[in-house]
Amino acid sequence: MERRALGIDIGGTKIAAGIVSESGMVVRATRVSTRVDKGRDAVISQIRGLVEKFSSRGPLVGIGIGTGGRVDVGTGEVVSATPLLPSWKGVNLKRMLERETSLPVFVDNDVNAAALAERRFGWGRERRNFVLLSIGTGLGGGIVINGELVRGKHGYGGEIGHLIIVAEGRRCNCGKRGCLEAYVSGRALEQQARRRRSRYPRSAIFRFQQRQTVRTRVISARHILRCARNRDPLAWRLIVEMTRYLAIGIDGIFTMLDPECVVLTGGITEGGGQLLLRLVRDSLSETSEYGARRARDVVLSRIRRFAGIRGSACLVLGNAEA
Ligand SMILES: [Zn+2]
Repeated sequence: MERRALGIDIGGTKIAAGIVSESGMVVRATRVSTRVDKGRDAVISQIRGLVEKFSSRGPLVGIGIGTGGRVDVGTGEVVSATPLLPSWKGVNLKRMLERETSLPVFVDNDVNAAALAERRFGWGRERRNFVLLSIGTGLGGGIVINGELVRGKHGYGGEIGHLIIVAEGRRCNCGKRGCLEAYVSGRALEQQARRRRSRYPRSAIFRFQQRQTVRTRVISARHILRCARNRDPLAWRLIVEMTRYLAIGIDGIFTMLDPECVVLTGGITEGGGQLLLRLVRDSLSETSEYGARRARDVVLSRIRRFAGIRGSACLVLGNAEA
């Protein structure tokens, strides 16, 4: 029988878990809402519950956990948290779960995990050099060179979202100004929509909002993308602007690393990946001559379903120690 690993993908809104076989088949999967509001212990006990549920379903070679924040992959400790999981710093799921399950446990940043999944099951099957950009609430990056993930000396390797692209630009969550993430991310899109509401009060972006209850009255990036597909003027403008900045970032990646391709993934691409891809290729073509030559090498991820679970499982399946 193929080796199987449990993959757990921890995000600020959802925790997804499932058993993944060596060939990438997801045997069983589930999702729960992250109980961030109940505090860190509540989230930890959710994870314990998932491990219990899945470890009784046949033999596993290990547990892989992809999480937001920066992780020390040696110790498994979360070294810095993201605003989505504010109390996550210092959490060490590796130590805890290895003690409780006697299985090897590997923890890494969720975007690194996504890059490993792409390497094993996606574009990486035919390309050994690629850069993955994950556009969700924020913007994460993963660099694969000669088939190896580039982590760098302190684990900061691939933090492309915090590359400064505008001097004295928009303030970023990380404290710097002008980071790519402040222009290309779900959060950036939503902020810009809110900022321009008075100029575009009739935009479909806000019509949707008024039908919502007070509790769910948030403008989601996916909704903005949907509105852009229907040619809503504000939504269209926001998406075009965002893809221009994204093209600048991608031009930098091609200039610096000359990878075989740049792979786009993440929550936003699920809602309107083709539109995003078309616009960013157009912008890249206008950015530079080299960009124009490389525009076709910007591609969408080949991993469509269970990307987070597959990525997390890859932390185990790709590891010689498991
Ligand atoms: Zn930043």
